Amino acid sequence: MNELNEKIYAGKRLSAEEALNLFDWDILELGRAADFRTRLAVPGAEVGFIIDRIINFTNVCEAECSFCAFHARAGQIEPYELTNEVILSKVAELVESGGTQVMLQGGLNPRYALDDLTAMVRAIKDRFPGVTLHSFSPAELVYAARRSGFSVAHVIEVLKEAGLDSVPGASDILVERVRKLVSPRKISVGEWVETMESLHRCGLKSSATMTYGLGETRAERIAHLSVIRGLQDRTGMIRAFIPWSFSPAQTRMENVAAATGMDYLRIVAIARIFLDNVRYLQAGWLTEGMKMAQLALTMGANDMGGVLTEEVVVGATGLKNKTSMDEMIDIIRDAGRIPIQRDSDYRQIRSFA
Ligand code: SF4
Repeated sequence: MNELNEKIYAGKRLSAEEALNLFDWDILELGRAADFRTRLAVPGAEVGFIIDRIINFTNVCEAECSFCAFHARAGQIEPYELTNEVILSKVAELVESGGTQVMLQGGLNPRYALDDLTAMVRAIKDRFPGVTLHSFSPAELVYAARRSGFSVAHVIEVLKEAGLDSVPGASDILVERVRKLVSPRKISVGEWVETMESLHRCGLKSSATMTYGLGETRAERIAHLSVIRGLQDRTGMIRAFIPWSFSPAQTRMENVAAATGMDYLRIVAIARIFLDNVRYLQAGWLTEGMKMAQLALTMGANDMGGVLTEEVVVGATGLKNKTSMDEMIDIIRDAGRIPIQRDSDYRQIRSFA
């Protein structure tokens, strides 16, 4: 066994340079090592999923990122804004089907001020107090702060008071060189970190993500993971990490080759080994498909995310992956794990053992 292998199996932390070497490892050896680390992070065979609904309330967005097919100017979807009545009817459908979590996500729409976001949160919580609102993103929070002339901390405080429970830490790629090329009008790496720290200080938990395949190098992928690991060392409030591959179709970056399945499994495994302080790693079935997500469960992932009843952002790139609770249960069982329905805090609601 070489030194790096020994370190991994001893449960030790890897440096960025060491993690970089993992890109050249044999995929099966890497998967085995990641699976070992998964069981160190969360012992047991359970793999959770949540019944949730993503409600993309507007696609009007000033950022116009070149990797995004969802925003109105990308030409795939007509500009739209959902009224609170429509949003409430979507939440009602979720609740009727046993769902527990709503993800409100929109663009950086100049017509939305903090009051509008607060009203949206209040309307949902007034009518459905039992629903968890895991909503908005660091970019949306910073934008709302700018538009309203408040600090980000104030915006977070007001939304929390209205009923916001936690925030998906959508982070694309946390590398300035790449961000300047693909999303120059979105928040900087520093702003992302500051917003996440503000959220965590305010007691709101979050997730963290990575969209890879945007032209970043291997070292830049590890740099992204380093930002997340450092933040988690300071706050301990990141519940899960979710890597997504960039889907070039229908975007302004159609010339970029889509990441392969092997790339995906490697990222999952390396993230699991490197992020030694994050308990849950979600298999991204929405972008990778169910079969890849199932493989990911043997190489570092230990959660299947949501049985979504609606999603527009990824759908705009032409990907139409869908699932049902029955399929989710079968996929997890077939991977040799025990399916559980969980809540937003990763607590078991129901076991399908
Ligand atoms: S990725 Fe988000 S911020 Fe960027 S254009 Fe799309 S909706 Fe707007």
